[in-house]
Order: sequence, then C-alpha cells, then structure tokens
Amino acid sequence: MIQRKIETDAVASSKGKELFELLGSSMQGLTEAEVERRLDYFGPNEIQQTKKRSQLRIFAKNFVSLMALLLWVSGAIALFAGMPELGIAIWLVNIINGLFSFWQEYAAQKATNSLKKMLPTYTTVIRNNNSQQIDAKKLVPGDIFLVQAGNSISADARILSSEALEIDESALTGESETVSKSKNYLKTEGQFGQNNIIYAGTTVARGTATVIAFHTGMATEFGKITNLTQKQGKSKSPLQVELNRLTKQISVIAIIIGLIFFLAAVFFVHYPWNKSFVFALGMIVAFIPEGLLPTVTLSLAQGVQRMSKKHALVKELSSVETLGETSVIASDKTGTLTQNQMTINHLWLLDDNFKVTGEGYSNNGQIQKEKQKVDIEKHPDLKLLLTISALNNDSKLEKTVDEKTKVIGTPTEAAHIIVAEKAGIEIERLVEEQPRLKELPFDSNRKLMTTIHSVNGKKIAYVKGALSSIMQRANKIRVNGEVHVLNNEDRKLIEAANKHYASMGLRSLALAYHELTEHEVQMNDQTVIENNLVFIGLTVMADPPRPEVYAAIKKCHDAKIRVIMVTGDSALTAKSVALKIGMVSEKVRVITGEELEKMDDQTLRDEIKQEVIFARVAPEHKYRIVKACQANGDIVASTGDGVNDAPALKQADIGIAMGVTGTDVAKDAADMILTDDNFASIVAAVEEGRTVYSNIQKFLLYILNSNVPEAIPSVLFLFSRGMIPLPLTVMQILTVDLGTDMLPALGLGAEKSEPGVMEQPPRARDSHLLSHSVIWKAFAWYGAGAALISTFAYFFVNYLHGYTISNLAEHGAVYVQATTMTLAAIVFCQVAAAINCRTKKTSVLTIGFFSNRHIIWGIVSEIILLALLIYVPVLQGLFNTISIGFVEWIFLVSIPIPLVLIEETRKYFVRRKVKKEENVNI
Ligand code: ATP
Repeated sequence: MIQRKIETDAVASSKGKELFELLGSSMQGLTEAEVERRLDYFGPNEIQQTKKRSQLRIFAKNFVSLMALLLWVSGAIALFAGMPELGIAIWLVNIINGLFSFWQEYAAQKATNSLKKMLPTYTTVIRNNNSQQIDAKKLVPGDIFLVQAGNSISADARILSSEALEIDESALTGESETVSKSKNYLKTEGQFGQNNIIYAGTTVARGTATVIAFHTGMATEFGKITNLTQKQGKSKSPLQVELNRLTKQISVIAIIIGLIFFLAAVFFVHYPWNKSFVFALGMIVAFIPEGLLPTVTLSLAQGVQRMSKKHALVKELSSVETLGETSVIASDKTGTLTQNQMTINHLWLLDDNFKVTGEGYSNNGQIQKEKQKVDIEKHPDLKLLLTISALNNDSKLEKTVDEKTKVIGTPTEAAHIIVAEKAGIEIERLVEEQPRLKELPFDSNRKLMTTIHSVNGKKIAYVKGALSSIMQRANKIRVNGEVHVLNNEDRKLIEAANKHYASMGLRSLALAYHELTEHEVQMNDQTVIENNLVFIGLTVMADPPRPEVYAAIKKCHDAKIRVIMVTGDSALTAKSVALKIGMVSEKVRVITGEELEKMDDQTLRDEIKQEVIFARVAPEHKYRIVKACQANGDIVASTGDGVNDAPALKQADIGIAMGVTGTDVAKDAADMILTDDNFASIVAAVEEGRTVYSNIQKFLLYILNSNVPEAIPSVLFLFSRGMIPLPLTVMQILTVDLGTDMLPALGLGAEKSEPGVMEQPPRARDSHLLSHSVIWKAFAWYGAGAALISTFAYFFVNYLHGYTISNLAEHGAVYVQATTMTLAAIVFCQVAAAINCRTKKTSVLTIGFFSNRHIIWGIVSEIILLALLIYVPVLQGLFNTISIGFVEWIFLVSIPIPLVLIEETRKYFVRRKVKKEENVNI
C-alpha cells in the first residue's frame, strides 16, 4: 500500500519506474481489487463541504427574526397584562410558525441538493490495461487517467505523456493565462510551479494527456484551499431580497397602524389601556405576512424540482426567476435545435457526385451512382476521399454482443466512419496500413482537424473541416487521379456545389491532404502542416431538426421571446435550418463571424435589434453577441458546450450548458444544465420560471386579501366609539392568519402553468411582485368582498337573536356566537379566495376544479380546523367561540358560491377584452 501523504515534489522529480513504485501502480493501471482497497483507505475523491451551517442554527434563525421577536415580546406583554391565554397563544403561534418555516426551508434545501447528485463528473481511467469511464468520485491515487480539452481535472496528477497540453489554472492561482505543461520535470517559481503536475479543480484548455493521480479528494491542493475559503451560505435571489424588504415594510406599516389604533382606542373610545393594547396587537399580527418568505423559498425550490423533471437542472434558486424574465435565447444549432444525428447522404467530387443510402449511423447502406452500387476501386479519388474520412477520424466502431456495429464518438466523426464502412472499406486494415503518427485536434476556431499518417514511407496529413477553412489553405485539387492547380473556375464550382447543398439545410465538410516534406515534418508547425492543401471533395451531411423544436419556437414567438441562432455552421445551412423550423422569415439578416469582427459594439447593438442569425462564428463571438443584447436591455439566456463558450455562459443572465455533449468547463460556468441538450427544454424551463413567479404573486394576493376582513371589525369598533362590540377577537385574528390561511396558500405555490403564461411578453426586470393589480385585487376586490360578508355574518347572528344595530349583544352566548360567525365567514371567504386566486384570467373549470390536490386538501384541513375551534371545549374557551346552528352552517357553506361565480364572470370579461384587443391588433 502506498503512503497516505506523498510529497508533490517527490512525484514531480521521480523518473520512470521510480514513479510507478512510489505510487504502487504500473502502465497497465490498477487492478479492481487494488482500487477497492485504496477507495477504502483514501475515501472517495470528493471535496467535502466545510461544516454546513448547522441545522440547529437554521432552526434557531426562525425564532429570532424580526417578526418572531415581535411576537415573543407581544406574548410576554400579554402575560404581564393579565391575559395568560393570549400570551401563551401568541407564543404557540410563534413556535408553530417557526417550525413550519424550518420545515419549508429544509424541504427547499433537500430539493436543490438532490439535483447536485444528478450531475456526476466522469473520468476515463486505465485499469487492468482497459480504458473505462468512471464517476470521478471513484478515482484513487495510482490511477492512470486521460484528460482532454474541456475536462475539469479530478485529482492532482503527474503527466505521463501529453499533446499540446494547456491548462487553465485560474481556479487555483487566479491567473487567467493558460499554462503549457508536459511530462518534463521543470520546476518554476510559485506553489504550483511544477511543469509536469496538473492539479484538481483546474481545467484543460487545449490538448490531451495521460496522467497518474497521486492526491485525491481533500488531500489535493484544491481540497486544502477549499477547506480554508469555502464560502458560507449562498446569495439570495432578487426575489427573496424583494420579499424580505416587502415583509419588513409591511411590518413597519403594521406597527404604525397598531400604534394609531392603540392611541385611538385609549383616547377616542376611552377603552382601558390593557385591552387597547391587545386590540392594537391584533391589528399588527393581522397585517404582518408571517409565512411569506419560507413559502416563497419552497415554491422556488419546487419550481427547480419540476424543471429537473423537464430536463433542465438549475443550480441556484435565483435562476428560476431570471428564466421567467428571459427575453432573448441565443442558441447553438447543432444538437440543440437539431438532433445531432449526422448522416452523410452525398459525396461530391469536382467531376462526379454520389448518393449515399442507409439511414443514420446504420452501416446498411451503400454508395450509389444512378441507383447503381459504386465500386470504389474504380474511383481512386472517391477512394481517397473515403480513406481520409475513415482515418481523419476520432470515432471507433465496436461490435456489440449481437454482432451489430456501434459507433463511439461525436456524430460528425461517426458519420464519417460509417460512410467509409458503407463503401466497403476495411477500416481495421486501413488503420494498420496507414498508422497515425500525430494529430492536430479539431477546434472551433480553425474549424479543422488534421491527422498525419505514414503511407508507404511517406508522411501525409489528412485534413477535414469547414469548406471556408480548407479553401483558404488549399492551392491544388485532385481530379481523375491527377493533381492540378486550384483555379478560380474550380473554386466557383466548389462554392456552387456547397451552396446547392446548404440551401437544402445540409452541411458540407471539405476533405483534403498534404504530402509533407521531411523539412515540414521536422518543423512540426500547425500552420505549415495545414497549408498547401490538395482539395479532394465534399462530404454532405443531413442533421434533421428535433421534432419538438417547431412547437418550442412557436411558443417563444407567442411569448415575445426572441431566438437568435449562433452557429459555427455556414451561413446558408444556418439560414435554411432556421427557416425550416420557423425561427425566422426569408428576410432574416445573416451575420457571419467575419462581419461581426469588423463591427463596432454600437453597430452590433443596432443590427441585433432586427431579425438576425449568426453563422460561422467562433465561441468568442458569442460573448459579444450576449453583451450586445444585454446592452439593449434584454435578459439573455445563452447555450454553450465547449471550453471557449465559458465566457459567454458566464456573461449571460442564464448560461445554459449541454449535459450530454457539453464539457465540464461549460457545465461549471453555466447556471443551468440541459440533461437532454434539447432547445425545447429551455422553453419548458422559461415557462416554469414564469409560472413560479405568477404563483408567488397568487399566494401573495391570497395572504394579503384576508387582512381587510381582519381589520374592518376593529375599525367598526373604533369608529362607533365602542358601540359595535369588537366583532373579531385578537385570538381569532391569529387563528386566521397563522392557522387556517397557511395550507391553501402552500397549494397555490404548486399550481401548474396557467394557459396563456407563454402568450404574454416577458416581465420587465423592474416590475414588482406587489403590482398595482395585486394591491387592487387584494384590498378593494377580494378583501372588500370578504369584509362585507363577514361583517354581515356578525350582524346576521345578532338579528337572528333579536338584537338590532343600535343594541348589539355585548356579552354572553349571542356575542360569542356573533364573533364565531365573523371568524367562520372569513374562513369561508378564504375558501373562495383559494379557488379564485388559482388563475388570473382563465376559468378555474378550464384548468380543472380538482386539478390541484394541494388546494383541495388545504381547503378541507382549513374547514376541519375551523370545526375544531368551534366544537372542542378547550379551544372554545381559548378562542372565544361557541357551537353554531344549522342555519348558520348553511349560510357559511353557501358563501363561496357567489364569490366564485362573480370572480368567474369578471375573468370571463377580462378574457373577452383581451381577445377583442388581439383581433384589433391583427
Ligand atoms: P453549433 O455552433 O451550432 O453547435 P457547429 O457544430 O457547426 O454548430 P462547431 O462545432 O464550432 O459548430 O463547428 C464549426 C465547423 O467546424 C462546422 O460547421 C464544421 O464545418 C467544422 N467541423 C465540425 N466538426 C468537425 C470535425 N469533427 N472535424 C472537422 N471539422 C469539423
């Protein structure tokens, strides 16, 4: 067994066998048994969170908030003022509220934490001389693993071999310049100066390497630093900040109102001061929206959970609301809007062209000319084209157990190997005959990939890539087995062929080669190797749009969200695909990367306001596009998958990384990760974001509206100078506010999207949750209605027992029954409010009366709670209630009916008005 703590210097300086001995490993990698042993000994390769904010502290926080303190003090005063029941009740309410808040926060945290587990990082290791993909958590010291551009490095490791390796160590050192590293021992200044060591937490910017791990988990340099600096807590979302402020503002207003009521009661009504105090307390408690904040947190977390079911993993709660504001989506094409199922269906040579049959990756097709199978031995140029296609290729063909062929590799690569297979090329033999000596991996700036092979003693570079990149570097062409100078006539023909295919939405890649002189081989310079190319022909691929994309694009248009395609593909292909999926009209402006580079920021801002798509752009351009949209006032969601996409992903209001094809770097930089890489999932997430915001507004409306019927009885009492005995006692106000109101409010947070959420323009960034319409509806509409009905209930009981307005019952059973009825009427008005708040303008019947079981259960529990308060003797004493008769129950149960009907009628007229306006606009 190796030592637990190995010095980094020792690893860096040891040579050959010495290194393997030090780490107890070999070139073949560890055995499974050894891995098990080491996992046991070293533990999983994880960075442990430093002591999470202890649950106890979170728990305690709920009991020392401003509101909680207010309630503690009030309870204490009530106790000293000789009202022990009230004091204890207020304290109880505070405890229940605190427990409830804690539970909500806990549930919210659990929901977000579980998302993290859904996104493991994978590493390719060599074990038992076999390469395999494992969860990076299972990596142990001594493991040999492979890294390539875009990978985040999972352990501190020594380089065994590397190819053009550049590491981004900014996470450790703060340096934004990448550092080249190789297997040579070369110690420079600084803590991370070893040239042959790569560190966990950093990322590969370019190149590839085979490395051997020596520190994992908390033993890594990254682990040590994280231990020191791990930040506590997370930033609050703007919505939570706004709500925090709102709650505080309302609390202050409540206290002022309470004070005014207290003074009015003492000096205007000449009420005893202790009773006046209790009375004022009631007002304060009635107005403070106690459960609002935790309910909002939970509702955001539930949104996050629903999004994850729709393939969108959100890292922070705040992204949920930003998604709801999104006004521009800048989207990649390949794989996001299209299926990334490339199939080569044409091969083009200057003097000939061929059709390729067979669907997708399947190899059961052939190369045809006029419906006849082509024998490639008779077409040397075609054979060369297919040879390059097979050899300049990073995918692998594997036979599965049932003798089917499986392709491992990116879709473009896979399509190129499959076409060679369809042509009958024996790939394994070819690989042996022309072994690969070196490669210049594909990158989306050059848009080229090159491999150098030894062919009959010669060294030949096979090159494939975007036509424009090849044409810039080609000066010859091969036709009929002979090489000519590439003249303008040829260039025109090639361009015309490319245009022809691109206008059908197909994408072409150009294939070429360069026979290298010994001198060129020696120079080993990328620009030299990828120059003086001999052009051979085009491979033409189809990549059909994803079927869900059509509807998703339409939804974006209805929701006034602009979709801007930003692709590395050619202008014509991009436009043709954009037209096909209904994203743009014929008059769309297509800006290429080259044009973009010449534009200043202001021109770009102006151009981007019109219908536009970007083609042949490099990832760096995406950053400028995102910034330009933001400068125009847009909230931008941008997709990305590569290393170079990271700046754009960070700059965007919502950076979206591809979960399947995306690199670790992109996933790290993003706010949201798509587990299916699908554009439609972005739109679903936006819809969810809008829904969550609108739900929060719904329960804000619900919670606020009951304040009016709670306050009106006190106002009546005051303004009648006590002639009207208090229709609702403080204890009863508490029960509505903290008891019966809570459960249906929770249900509103779980409401599904209302039809039409995606038919409105995005909400403005500066719009407030407590909008005019919410205030109006809460106080003047729902609130006023409930106040009217509950006051009526109070007088109704008096009337039933022969009391008149000038002579109302002040004590005894009738008075208690009258207050009981005020309370019960408010509860039944809230039943109606729970139903009415579910939609803004859609009929509740359209979304299904029983479709939200949380609401139904909320209402049922609300009524059961009320019945307990009315019929359980202990509670009767405490809450000043008494049993009520049959007629009273009939009255109560019928309250919601007119309230729901009236609101449904109002919604109907709102819908009609909207429809009329739409017709006018058309
Ligand atoms: P998008 O940006 O929408 O995802 P894309 O796949 O075209 O589209 P890139 O991956 O940046 O974007 O590719 C840019 C161009 O490089 C492609 O249009 C193609 O011409 C060329 N290309 C892509 N993959 C390869 C490859 N494996 N080998 C050689 N050239 C490639």
